Amino acid sequence: MTSTTRAAGAAHSPPGPRAARFAEAVRRAVADGLLGERQPVAGFLDVDGVRDSVTALHEAFASVPGVPVLHTFAAKAASLVPVLRLLADCGMGCEVASPGELRLAVEAGFAPERIVLDSPAKTREELRLALALGVAVNADSPGELRRIGELRSPDSASVLGLRVNPQVGGGSIGAMSTATATSKFGVALRDPGAREQVVQAFAERPWLTRLHTHVGSQGCPPELIAEGIAETYGLAEEINATVGARQVTGIDIGGGLPVNFADDEVRPAFSDHVAALRAAAPGLFDGRYHLVTEFGRSLLAKNGFIGARVEYTKDAGGRRIALTHAGAQIATRTVFMPEAWPLRVGVFDGEGRPRSGPPMVQDVAGPCCFAGDVVAHARELPEIREDDFVVLYDTGAYYFSTPWAYNSLPRPAVYGFSFGPDGDGPHFAPVRDAQSLDAVAAESGLDHADALTALTERRPAP
Ligand SMILES: *Cc1c(COP(=O)(O)O)cnc(C)c1O
Repeated sequence: MTSTTRAAGAAHSPPGPRAARFAEAVRRAVADGLLGERQPVAGFLDVDGVRDSVTALHEAFASVPGVPVLHTFAAKAASLVPVLRLLADCGMGCEVASPGELRLAVEAGFAPERIVLDSPAKTREELRLALALGVAVNADSPGELRRIGELRSPDSASVLGLRVNPQVGGGSIGAMSTATATSKFGVALRDPGAREQVVQAFAERPWLTRLHTHVGSQGCPPELIAEGIAETYGLAEEINATVGARQVTGIDIGGGLPVNFADDEVRPAFSDHVAALRAAAPGLFDGRYHLVTEFGRSLLAKNGFIGARVEYTKDAGGRRIALTHAGAQIATRTVFMPEAWPLRVGVFDGEGRPRSGPPMVQDVAGPCCFAGDVVAHARELPEIREDDFVVLYDTGAYYFSTPWAYNSLPRPAVYGFSFGPDGDGPHFAPVRDAQSLDAVAAESGLDHADALTALTERRPAP
C-alpha cells in the first residue's frame, strides 16, 4: 500500500481490494488528524473507486455498439461540487431535481446539454432558467407540460421530455418506489385513458421528443426496473407509429440500480443491468433511440465511508452501547428506518488499526438527543472501547453528503482520497469543510437575534 514502485496498468486502477484500501485510509486519516478528538466525525470518498465505477457503467452500455448514451449522475446522491466536478471529468452528465442542484451542476462545470432537470415541483422561475440555459427538462405532469409550452421559445436548446409512471409496482422500500399505482411521480400510464392522452400530448407538441421513467431506487429489483423501462420503450414505439414520424428520439431510463449493503461485493453490476434491459426491451438498443441514464447510489455508495470517534461506552439493560459521533445527523435513513437501511460497521482502535477479537453484541449509537439515535442495533462486533473509531461502510451516496441539522450538530467535513498513479497514497483532499460553530449560529438566525423580541416589544404606556 505504501510501496513507491509504479503500478503497472491503468493509472486510475486502485491498488488492492477495497477493504484493504479503506483500512489504510482510516489509519492515515487518524494519523493526519482528519479524524480524532478535534474532528470526531468525517466522510471519506475513494476517488480511484469512483473513477472505476464510472468506467464500469460506461463499459456496460458500450458493450452494445452503436447506441448513443448520455450517463448522468443523480446529483442528490452526492450534492458536493468537487464530487460533481470529478464526475464531469469522468465523462458524466448530471441529473438535477431542484434549483439548488441545478446551481451545483452549473458550478461543477457540466455543459447545459449534459444536464437533465427532473424536479418534482418546478416553479415557473425554475423552468424559465432551465429553458434559457438549454438544459433538458422532463415534465412531471400534464400541467407542467402546459407551462413549458407557454414558457418555451422556439429557439430554446432544451430537449423536452415527459416522465411516465409505468405502474409496474413497488420494491421492498415503499418510500423509494416510484412506479406504484398512486406514486406522485410522472403520468400514471395505466390509469384509464392516460396512455391515449400521452400519445395525444406528443401529437400536439412536435417539440416533445423524449420519454422519461425512473421506476425506483434502493429496494427495487432490477427485473422490475427493466419491466418499467420496457413499458416506456413500448410507449415510445406507439407514439412514433401514431404520429407517423420519429418524434420520440430519446428515452431517459432513470437510475435506481440497487446496492448490496451486506458485504463488499458490487452486486448487481451495471453489466447485469444492461443484460436485463436487453432481454426485456431488445429494441431499446438497436440504435434508434438516444438513451439517458441517471444512476446515483450504485455509482457512489460503495466508494465512501463515514469515520467516527467513540466518545464513551456504557452498559444498559445488559447491552453494551458505544456512544459515537455518527448518528442521525449523518445516517438519517438508517436511524429512522433501520430495517430498510442497515449499514456494515467496522471497529478500529485509537490509532486507526482494525480491531479483531471475539464478537460481542453491541449497539452503535450517535450524538443526537433522542433515544432512537442508533446506527446499528445489537450488532456482533469486536469489543468497542473509548477513543476507538467506528466506520460505517457503503455511505458514499446519500449519507455524509446529505446531513441533517438536528441538535445544531455541524455538517461534518468530507475528504476525497486517492492512492495515486504510483499507489503511494492515500493522499487526501478536502471536499467540504466541517461547519464551524460560527456558521451554525449564523444559519440559525443570528443576524435576526432581536427580531422577535422587537416585534412584540412592550411600549411604555402613554
Ligand atoms: C433519485 C433519482 C435517481 C437516482 O436514483 P439512485 O437510486 O440513486 O440511482 C434518478 N432519477 C430520478 C428521477 C431520481 O429521483
